[in-house]
Amino acid sequence: MKIVSIVGARPQFIKAATVSRKLRANQAIHELLLHTGQHYDENMSDIFFRELNIPEPDFNLEVGSGSHARQTGIMLRGIEDILIREKPDLTLVYGDTNSTLAGALAAVKLHIPVAHVEAGLRSFNRNMPEEINRIVTDRISDLLFAPTLTAIDNLKNEGLSEITYFTGDVMYDSVLFYKSSVLNDPAKFKTPGIPQKYLLATIHRAENTDNPENLKKILAAFSRLSFEIIVPLHPRTLNILDKTIKIPSHVHIIEPVGYLQMLKLTLDAHKVLTDSGGLQKEAYFLGKPCITLRTETEWVETLHDHWNIVTGCDTDLIVDAVNAPIPAAPRKSGFGDGHAADIILEKLLS
Ligand code: UDP
Repeated sequence: MKIVSIVGARPQFIKAATVSRKLRANQAIHELLLHTGQHYDENMSDIFFRELNIPEPDFNLEVGSGSHARQTGIMLRGIEDILIREKPDLTLVYGDTNSTLAGALAAVKLHIPVAHVEAGLRSFNRNMPEEINRIVTDRISDLLFAPTLTAIDNLKNEGLSEITYFTGDVMYDSVLFYKSSVLNDPAKFKTPGIPQKYLLATIHRAENTDNPENLKKILAAFSRLSFEIIVPLHPRTLNILDKTIKIPSHVHIIEPVGYLQMLKLTLDAHKVLTDSGGLQKEAYFLGKPCITLRTETEWVETLHDHWNIVTGCDTDLIVDAVNAPIPAAPRKSGFGDGHAADIILEKLLS
């Protein structure tokens, strides 16, 4: 079976690393990797391929940054050319980026079956570009691989049960797989100059980066906190911060880091503050309380007993959530058993 897997952004490299490893270990599958180039530099792309042993992409469209329509349009043209030439039996897309949408749309118009990994996530907030990408991708896919039972319910409510399978979350597989590398060689993955006790924060969602007022409120909360705060910052956010906002001295902005260094930063953090989908889950998997800097979350399984507190950019709510006690209740499962990629492989073969 010939499969073209389409990736383009940081979280997709992490998901594809885990799934590709399984696909390529199976003789019946010939996988080609198409990188759209949505994320493209050393810190946002190359380091993930190197560290996670992701095969060199067979194709790179090098689309770079751009508006949603422009970026998606360029991808559509490039992906279509490659699919016409390669004639795969299936196209595999991940998550909710413009690369996901472009891959699914190009393939379905060529009558090439599409399988969507991390299907069924919904924030019910149509202002999020990712929400539109998810809804459209799920609607036009042939196979939907759902990471949680909430995702299964969402797809059922949209009449998509017949093509939906519960697999668990490939990002849970990734954390289990790579955590041991980090624990076995902690010195290698430790960020130099990191304080003993700190909060880890990431900010990159459009709702926070496109609105300087929201970013100011988040930084106002940071300035009221007594912890050092480490912020590996997405290039999009850095552009805005440079221009408009003063950073408190205990907030340490660093370059984006590789996945293994990020796991180590999460493992050693007191708490995590983020608007990232992936990092909310990783905090939960690694037993770190999370404060979600958005008004809703798709990962509702993480909310129980305040393991994840949704604050949006409300300054007081953020400060209170950081100062709240560490949750006492054990975390629940709900993201599968760490074999999501095996289940995906099995379903693809059958
Ligand atoms: N991540 C990383 N380095 C960083 C920041 C994040 O490796 O400097 C990882 C993080 O651990 C998670 C993934 O990137 O696995 C999340 O990606 P992102 O926040 O860009 O996207 P989202 O999950 O919100 O779609």
